Amino acid sequence: MKILLLGSGGREHSLAWKIAQSPLVDEVFSAPGNPGMDKIGPCFDLDPTDLKAVQELALQIVPDLIVIGPEAPLAAGVSDALRARGFDVFGPSQKAAQLESSKGFAKDLMKKYGVPTAGYGRFTDLTEALEYLEGMTAPYVIKADGLAAGKGVVIAQTLEEAENTVEEFMAGRFGDASAEIVIEEFMEGEEASVFVMTDGEGAIYLPVAQDHKRVGDGDTGPNTGGMGAYAPAPVVDARTLELVQTMIVEPMLSGMADDDMPYQGVLYVGIMVTPSGPKVVEFNARFGDPECQVLMAGLPGDIVPALLVCATGGLVSSHAALCEMMGLSEFRPSATVVMAANGYPGAVKKGSVIAGVDNADAIDSVTVFHAGTDMNEKGELIAAGGRVLGVTATGDDLRQAVDRAYHGVAAIDWPEGFYRRDIAHRALK
Ligand code: ATP
Repeated sequence: MKILLLGSGGREHSLAWKIAQSPLVDEVFSAPGNPGMDKIGPCFDLDPTDLKAVQELALQIVPDLIVIGPEAPLAAGVSDALRARGFDVFGPSQKAAQLESSKGFAKDLMKKYGVPTAGYGRFTDLTEALEYLEGMTAPYVIKADGLAAGKGVVIAQTLEEAENTVEEFMAGRFGDASAEIVIEEFMEGEEASVFVMTDGEGAIYLPVAQDHKRVGDGDTGPNTGGMGAYAPAPVVDARTLELVQTMIVEPMLSGMADDDMPYQGVLYVGIMVTPSGPKVVEFNARFGDPECQVLMAGLPGDIVPALLVCATGGLVSSHAALCEMMGLSEFRPSATVVMAANGYPGAVKKGSVIAGVDNADAIDSVTVFHAGTDMNEKGELIAAGGRVLGVTATGDDLRQAVDRAYHGVAAIDWPEGFYRRDIAHRALK
C-alpha cells in the first residue's frame, strides 16, 4: 500500500513514522516533508495548499490513502479536490473544516446542537462589537474569526485593552481573518485536548493529551504553537470523558452529518474542564502538534487500518477491531519536549547547526521528530524555523517517559536552541 502525507512539521513526521511501521504499507510519500520524513520515504517539494500541484502529485503516485496533516490545505479545499479525483482522503471537507477555519461558524454550530461552550457574539461591525463588550465583565476573550496561526486570540484584562484589541483586529491585524471577530465569555478551568478519529459516524477516542502553550517554565511568557505535550493526561477522568462524548462529540458528529457536512478525519476538541463540566474552547480539524507526536509514539499497534476506515466509512462496525489493532488499551505513557530556536515565538535566526540527533534517537524509547529543520550545503542539519525538534519518548509510566525525553534533549548539541524543563508538570506534581 502507498500512502501520501501532506505537511512538513513534527506532527507529519510522527504520522509518517507511525504509518511506515504498518505491515500494510510499502511506501510513504511526503509533500513537502522535512529532513526527518525524507529518511522514511520520498519527499516532493510543493505547496500543500496548491490544489492543482497536489492533484498532479496524487495522480502520479496513485496512493491508496492521502493523509492531510495541517489545517491550511483543509481550509483550502484540498481534501475535496482529491476526493473529486477518486482518492481516499483522511481529512475533513472544506465545509466541515470550517470548524477550525471560522470560529464563528464553530460557535454557531455548537449553539445549534446544544454543545456546551462559552457564550459569545459574532461581529463585523465595530460599534456593535464595542457595545457588546460594555455588557461583559473582565477578562474579555477576543478572537479573530479566521486562521491566524494560533495568534488570533487575546484575553484582555481591562475594558480599554479589550476595546483596543477589537479595533486593531477589525482594522485588519490579521487581514481578512480578523475582519470578523468573536467575543466570548471567559471560562475558568484546566485545558485538555481530546482527539477523536471519525468517519462521520463512529468515533475512536485517543488518549487525552495536554500541551504546554506558554514559552516559559511554569506556564509563563507568550503563547506558542506548543512547547511540549504528554499523554495520557489525568485532568480528564472517565466521567469527564463520558461527558465529552455524549454532550460534545456525538451531537457534533450527528448534527454535521444531518446538515450535509459529515466530518471525516480527526476532530481535535480543545476543552476547558470547568466546575460545571467540560466546555469547548475550540475545535481543530487536524491533529495538534506536538500532541500528535505523543499519540503516535505511545500507540503500540497499527494506525493505518483506522486511518483507512475513517476515510472510507464503516467505523461503527469495525470499531472494536480497529482499537485493538491500534493497541489503544496498551497505550504507552509518552512525552514530547520541543526544542525551539532562541527568540521563539518572536523572530528567530535560521541556519544554526544541530548535532547529536542520531545519539538522541539511539536512546531506548526515544524518537526525535523534525519540525523546522533543513540541511545546509555541507549536509549538516540546521534550524529552519521556530519550533525545530520534538524529542519524544515513551516509558512504563509518565515519569520514565519524561526522563527519557530529557535524556534525549541532553544528547542534542544545539547551543542556539532552548526548551522547557517542566513538561508534564501538572501530571507529575
Ligand atoms: P490554537 O489553535 O493555537 O490552540 P487558536 O488561535 O485557535 O489557538 P483558541 O484555542 O480558541 O485559539 O484560544 C487560544 C487559547 O486562549 C486557548 O487555548 C485558551 O487558553 C484561551 N481561551 C480561548 N477561549 C477562551 C475562553 N472562552 N475562556 C478562557 N480562555 C480561553
